[in-house]
Amino acid sequence: MTDRSYATVNPCIMCQPIGSVMAFKGIESSMVLLHGSQGCSTYMRLHLAHHFREPVDIGSSSLSEKGAVYGGSENLKKGLKNLILRYDPKVIGISTTCLAETIGDDIGRIIAEFREEEDIASDRIIIPVSTPSYEDSHNSGYIKAVEAIVKEFTSQESGSHIFNNKLNVVLSENISPEDTRELRRILSDTISPDSFILLPDISETFDAPMTGELQKIFPGGTSHSDIADMKNSAAMIGLGITSANRAVSYLEHAFDIPSQELPLPIGLEYTDRFVAALSMIAGTDIPEAYQKERGRLIDAMVDAHKYVYGTKVAIYGDPDNVLGLLSLALENGMHPILVVASGKSPGFAEYAMERVRQVKPDCDVTVLEDVDFDAFNDAVKKAKPEMLIGNSNGKYIAKEMGIPLVRVGFPIHDRVGAQRILSLGYLGAMNMLDRITNTILEAQEEKLAAKLSQPDRYASPDWLKFHPAEA
Ligand code: SF4
Repeated sequence: MTDRSYATVNPCIMCQPIGSVMAFKGIESSMVLLHGSQGCSTYMRLHLAHHFREPVDIGSSSLSEKGAVYGGSENLKKGLKNLILRYDPKVIGISTTCLAETIGDDIGRIIAEFREEEDIASDRIIIPVSTPSYEDSHNSGYIKAVEAIVKEFTSQESGSHIFNNKLNVVLSENISPEDTRELRRILSDTISPDSFILLPDISETFDAPMTGELQKIFPGGTSHSDIADMKNSAAMIGLGITSANRAVSYLEHAFDIPSQELPLPIGLEYTDRFVAALSMIAGTDIPEAYQKERGRLIDAMVDAHKYVYGTKVAIYGDPDNVLGLLSLALENGMHPILVVASGKSPGFAEYAMERVRQVKPDCDVTVLEDVDFDAFNDAVKKAKPEMLIGNSNGKYIAKEMGIPLVRVGFPIHDRVGAQRILSLGYLGAMNMLDRITNTILEAQEEKLAAKLSQPDRYASPDWLKFHPAEA
């Protein structure tokens, strides 16, 4: 908030249940039912459908005034019955909304009653997640849902208890389906295709191929047997370091599985750390193909350097995504003058400043978190960056300032292809660097063309200046 604000103006975050929907979408045959009013699920369906360009069905218990006063038990049971009838999901996540949390429905008790009354088979799993939206953000909803999923599957008495010698890779922040595919490729090539369990996996469920058949629930996602098998794994990597990865902590303490937390592999250094960790776990050398990819990335960095060096950028979005993009910007000689995380996460500011000190200690950077777009816009006007890197919500201030915006992260609702944006790994770093560099070149050309069209400025040496904001 700014000093003049009495309330949040256009928040940079979304509510907790939407994060839980993204997590549940990453597991096989699952649906989410939001316990709350219709409007909550409509907003989330719309928001996710605009970003992923897929139909996103989310159930609702459709609480009305009556439910708000007398409790929503009846509505929730009806909603569950309908959801099972229409979609037949094997896993149902029940996320609470503001209203349900405020009236204080006992979701565990309602589920137990529903199971008894409707004689629900024991292999139909119902997982409640408490996601009050008047605190935290979609990121915490994601983390809570992943933890609830892992606890539910691994705490069951049934299932194998045989050591599987696998690596668990658990995300603590939503990444794009393309990034998820890239993560799977890197893991398959370094560890081997059958030796890891990635949770959640939205590579297919949020970016499904067109088959001509209506699919109520898209195939894909982490399989239930894999999630149950996570308790038997040999090691774990939690991807994302700015917030506590609760699923990883739980598995570590409950089943004594050693873990390490790594930043999202965005940019050279963080991808190096990820690939090195995988090669150490596998006990093998880094595959030659990846050494070549790394070499190509360095070549690309050399090529782009003369265009991107010194460009003042503002980076904003979800904290671990921003941290990775900050690292990428610093490695490429850019000047990240403003770095903004959408919500509050315990480690964001510290990790961001640590990375700045490592690469460019003299860089004058402002780190903000837990701000609304009103405060963000003020900060952008003050910092005067030459480019924004972040989600679609920055487009208004980018337009007002006359600076370009490179779209990445969540949400991107005003362009197509968000599900195919690649930013992870060496290939992702190359992709992001190409996009950033070409955006700078385009902005530079546009400004140059505008100036050359003014006869009195034709011979001015101004246009020789490199940076778009100065040209
Ligand atoms: S903030 Fe609360 S009321 Fe609004 S959509 Fe989210 S859960 Fe529903």
